[in-house]
Formats: sequence, structure tokens, C-alpha cells
Amino acid sequence: MSKTLKSFVCGEWREGAAPTRDLFNPLTNSVVATASSVGLDFSEVYAFARKGGSALRELTFTQRADLLDAVAKCINDAREPLIDLALENGGNTRKDAKFDIDGATATLAAYARFGRKLGDTNLILDSAPIRLSGNPRYVGQHIYTTKPGVALHINAFNFPAWGMCEKLAVALLAGVPVVTKPGTSTALVAHKIMEVLDASGLLPEGALSMVVGGAGDMLDHLESNDVVAFTGSAATGALIKGNANIVSKNVGVTVEADSLNAAVLCPNIKVDSPTWEMFVNEILNDLTQKAGQKCTATRRILVPTTLLDDVKERFIEELEATRVGNPALRGVKVGPLATPDQLNDFNAGISKLKTQASVIFGDKPPTLTDIKGDQGYFVSPTLLQANGEDLSLINSVEVFGPNATLIPYDGLAKTAVGIVAAGGGSLVTSIYSDDKAFLQEAVLGCAPFNGRIHVGGKKVVDASPGPGTVMPQMVHGGPGRAGGGEELGGYRGLTFYMQRTGVQGTAAVLEKIFADAAQL
Ligand code: NAP
Repeated sequence: MSKTLKSFVCGEWREGAAPTRDLFNPLTNSVVATASSVGLDFSEVYAFARKGGSALRELTFTQRADLLDAVAKCINDAREPLIDLALENGGNTRKDAKFDIDGATATLAAYARFGRKLGDTNLILDSAPIRLSGNPRYVGQHIYTTKPGVALHINAFNFPAWGMCEKLAVALLAGVPVVTKPGTSTALVAHKIMEVLDASGLLPEGALSMVVGGAGDMLDHLESNDVVAFTGSAATGALIKGNANIVSKNVGVTVEADSLNAAVLCPNIKVDSPTWEMFVNEILNDLTQKAGQKCTATRRILVPTTLLDDVKERFIEELEATRVGNPALRGVKVGPLATPDQLNDFNAGISKLKTQASVIFGDKPPTLTDIKGDQGYFVSPTLLQANGEDLSLINSVEVFGPNATLIPYDGLAKTAVGIVAAGGGSLVTSIYSDDKAFLQEAVLGCAPFNGRIHVGGKKVVDASPGPGTVMPQMVHGGPGRAGGGEELGGYRGLTFYMQRTGVQGTAAVLEKIFADAAQL
């Protein structure tokens, strides 16, 4: 029977009015739940959350770190039911579901560790005092204090646990209460997390609210000290940045949007060498993990012409052995896409790419394991190869599913950088090479067009989680079409939720006022 999801706002569960939206089981096409935010008064929702912020702000970083650890434990205790919901409402394999849920708890735990290092204070100093005049007693000091507002977190459908918790961890450590809105189509997992956290009574009142259902007019009630962290498509990101209330009140916004991530294979990699294997395994994992519905998945694979045949042969061999079907079964690697709209968008996107590329694997519907009839939003993992020099669509159309396009290039780092840059700004580019000269040119050349660069090489084969895994210590985001935003990055992430203020005055006085502060 389908469940009615309620929002957790103003300290209680509230049901939205009609019209409601349906959440599907992507395996059976049946409705598993309905959700609606219609009728919620967002002014009231934010006012309640802002009030809750004062209790959070009074806590020290150490105390907030304890909270984050407790939240992580609470979610981990619900791991099995959450995995079941990710299968039911997201079409995730068990491995995909664990990736999402364990990513969430690992990020919370990482921010707890960062918080403990900041210690028993709620004030941060940004570097050392600066002498401002000939009189050494007159100095300036930059400080960070917590914004007395609320953080609105709007998340995409593909990582209902990790996407929510990576934002939550940073905001709570900074001392800012959160109103979180999961992507509606897969909201069951996030909703369950809210249920277990509410039942635990761990968080101060107002520290976390959840709105399920559409965004409605939630952007129109934000105030100057509030912030919005958004993850989703570039089109929605642009709407948020352009919202009249956000513009007029200068509400802080960070956008994590879509991205045509690239992988670059260096020409002097030997087939079957450790670096070659790393390239093959990491890129194939990106193609199939979470049915390719990962913002960090590699979509463009730059292969030197000299290695093209070897790469094609190996990728086709591996893809032929990849099982698509019932995600609950061990051995099935690729489950269905999350929604019927995603299926339509995937097919339309591949059709566009086919005007500039040929499908070398996946042109036929996949043979499905343990699926009867034509149920489920399944597609075949699809590998394409660029036909010629015109890469305009390959460099600009994000097809959100299991696909990537091989782009042959001449093996020069300069050429690779040009193609990577033509993606218009990416979350991550991976470069597989053990050649220092190639790496220097490629890494430094690609850096301005990427939020993160992943260098694959023989010495880190066992240590690397692959380019698609977002690490809490490293910044996540990217320039241009990737949204222009930045999240995580250890302590860097906190600064979005805090105000940096330059304080000028007498050195001895400032030293006294800031005596207990943590130093960045
Ligand atoms: P989406 O359609 O843009 O939706 C994202 C979120 O925005 C959802 O919660 C959605 O609510 C909400 N939303 C829709 N219209 C809105 C509006 N007018 N005002 C405020 N919020 C609004 O994206 P999606 O389909 O969920 O996610 C897929 C995209 O996200 C892909 O392009 C992917 O690359 C990108 N993504 C990026 C990252 C990253 O970190 N850079 C991570 C994951 C995904 P409803 O669900 O209720 O419509």
C-alpha cells in the first residue's frame, strides 16, 4: 500500500494538501508513496528553524561534533531498512544503496572529526593578525562567526542519503539550523532518515526540518542571513540564482549542478599495466554504479588513437559481462533508472549524442536478469565513440544514466586540456598517467575548468576510491556549467555558513576577545 509522506516542520509532522505527487518503484512502475508540500507556510517553517538556531550556536564545535557522531550512528542503525527503501524507491542495487548510505555516515563522521579539532569554542580566526599601520599595536584580524539564519538545502534525487547528509554535516557543525528538501521522486530514504532522527530526540528543536514535495514558494521567504545550498540540474540552479527575493536580499547561494566529467588516458600507458587496470576499473565503475546516475560519473573518455582499439576491446568485453536487471539480486550490477522521466530523458539524450557519435555497445535493449515482461525503467549501459571533430553535443549534453563517449585524441596533453575545457566547467576530471611531464601540463591545464582533479597512477591503485567518490576533505563543486559552487573541502565548507568579518583595533584587546577561538 502506498504511503503518504508528511513534512517535518515547526517541530511536528504535517501533511500537504492536494495535488500530491507520486513516488514510484522503478522496478514495477507501481506507486509506493505520495508527497505534497502544498499549504505549508514557509515563513512559519523558517521562523521556527531560526529560533532553533540559537541553541545550536551556543554549542561549541566539540559539542556539535558529538551531535554529528550521534546522527551518523542513528542513521547507521537504520542501515538495513534504508537499503530496502533505496531498492524500492530508487532501483538501487544493494551495493549502490550502501554507497549512498555509508557515504552519508562517513561524511558526518568526518565532520565530527574536523569539529573536534576546532575544540571547545564557536569562533574561528582566519589566519594571523595583520599589522595595519606604523604603530604595531593597531592590527586587523579576520574572524568567522555563525550566521544567525537558516540553511535551505535542496537536493537531487540520485543521492537521497549522502546528498542530504553532506550538506547537513557542514551546516550543523557551523551551527546553522537546516530545512532540507529531498528530490521528491526518491524521497523515501531521506524521509526515513528524518523519521529516525526525530524519534531519537538527538537534535535541538528546530535544528532540522524536512519538506517533502515540490519547492512551492520556499525561495520567496528567505532572509539576508539565510543561505541556500542546491544540488540538481543546471536549469533549476539558474532559476534559484535568479529568484527575485534571493537577488534582492543577497541570500548566499551555492549551486552543485550537472557536469560533463572527463577521463584522460595518457598515451604511454602500457596495456595491462597497473595504471591501465586502474583506468579500466574506475571508469567502468563510474559507467555502471547507480545506473550511471551520478553527478561525478565520467561522461567523456579521452583515449589516445594509439590505444583506442585496446580500450574498445576491453570495455566491450567488460560491458558484455555486466548484468542488468533486478537490483536485489547478487551479481546484478545495473538496476533501473529512477523514474519514467529519467528513462525518457536518457533515450532522448542518447539520440542527440548519436548525431555526433556511434554506439559501440548498448544499441539494443539489455537482456534483463529476473525481470518479467517490459516492467522497470531499464536501459543498457551505453558506450559511444565520437565520429569526428565536432564534439559540441558530446561536450554539452549530459545524459543522466549509464553512458560515456570515447573521444580519440592525438595523445598530446595540450589537446586533452582543450577538450576537457570545452565541457564548460566540470566537477571532476581524472587523468591516468605515470609520466610527470604529461601530468604537469594536463593537471595545471585542466585545473581552472574543474573543481577536482583525480590523478590515477601505479602507486595509488589500492588507495583510490575513484573519481566518482566525493571526499569530505576535498572541495566538491565546479566552475561554469557545474554550477560555480563549492561544498565540503574540510574546514572550507564551514565558511559558507559563517560570516567573515575583519576586526581592526588594539592588538592586546583583540587578543583578549578572541583568546578562546580556533585558528584556521
Ligand atoms: P532537478 O530537477 O534540478 O531537481 C533538483 C532539486 O530541485 C529537487 O529537489 C527539485 O524538487 C528541486 N526543484 C525543482 N524545481 C525547483 C524550483 N523552481 N525551485 C527550487 N527547487 C526546485 O535535478 P534532479 O533531476 O533531481 O537531479 C539530476 C541532476 O542533478 C543531474 O543533472 C545531475 O548532474 C545533477 N546533480 C549534481 C550533483 C552535484 O553535486 N553537482 C549531484 C547530484 C546530481 P522536486 O524533486 O520536488 O522536483
